[in-house]
Amino acid sequence: MEFRLIDRIRERTAQPRDDVRLGIGDDAAVLAVPAGQELVAAIDTMVEGVHFPVGTAPADIGWKALAVNLSDLAAMGAAPAWALLALSLPRPDVDFIDGLAEGFAQLAGQYRVALVGGDTTRGVLSLSVAVHGFVPPGQALTRAGAQAGDAVLVTGSLGDAAAGLHCLQSQTDIQAATRDALVGRLNRPMPRVAAGLALRGRASACLDVSDGLLADLGHICSASGVGVEIDAALLPYSPALRAAFDETAARGFALTGGDDYELCFTVPSARLDEVRDELARLGCAATCIGRVVAGAGVRVRGTDGAWLEPARQGWDHFAP
Ligand code: ADP
Ligand code: MG
Repeated sequence: MEFRLIDRIRERTAQPRDDVRLGIGDDAAVLAVPAGQELVAAIDTMVEGVHFPVGTAPADIGWKALAVNLSDLAAMGAAPAWALLALSLPRPDVDFIDGLAEGFAQLAGQYRVALVGGDTTRGVLSLSVAVHGFVPPGQALTRAGAQAGDAVLVTGSLGDAAAGLHCLQSQTDIQAATRDALVGRLNRPMPRVAAGLALRGRASACLDVSDGLLADLGHICSASGVGVEIDAALLPYSPALRAAFDETAARGFALTGGDDYELCFTVPSARLDEVRDELARLGCAATCIGRVVAGAGVRVRGTDGAWLEPARQGWDHFAP
């Protein structure tokens, strides 16, 4: 049974790549790292009921499991190449596997990511995807490197995914199209791969927003040894978020909600226009939301000019 499931996954995710010398089917994959490139590796686990709601469509689960990992590669400025999938399933459910593999393949196909191996076991529904990508030596974007005076930017818009989760978890009288747009951001995040590549050699620090903007910006602060000041009035919200929620709710989702998978990065102010133009050329909006300062930690200025005191900084799996 296990092997029939693996065959179904292999058929549905087939992606020809010359650098895959040996893919699914042997004890391990054999992969050719391009000469003169560094290998960038990341892994993320998604557990049903923790990282996606019970009842999420299998194709959405497959998409998201890969998307959150490609987002990590994007944040490093890496070009994606290969993935591994460790799958734990309560039952050998063929329809579920087909849906999962199709959602995975829809996103993998956009970036020519080859699934080259994995593991399949029985257990609670969970997926670990590992991804590998390439950067020229020394050019990976990291969380360290932000300097006082740099501008702080985010791609796209913030808060939709958390608002989408809120819609699923509570009764709301939000219009169906608006609700679908928000839930769509939760279930089908679009990793900012092209933006990450364009930020190589331009951004001083970069990460992807997975746990909420405040928590994630806090990582840039500690890694770079700086502070950050954000203006709440500058936070970019989608039309759907504006239509469905007031300013205070939108700000809460944007600052402390998770799952946005936008890139948050810092840029020396002299390069701000160049970076925004370059991202615009790729169809990726980037908004300046604040600046890097000497000091430590993240502060947010409210629309009235006073500093906000957020109750919760973001998602922490081991918070008491
Ligand atoms: P082994 O017991 O040697 O680890 P397995 O029987 O677990 O091998 O796997 C057989 C082949 O199928 C291997 O190439 C493995 O990488 C691949 N594989 C297993 N599960 C998955 C999966 N969920 N997705 C992709 N490839 C998988
Ligand atoms: Mg083996």
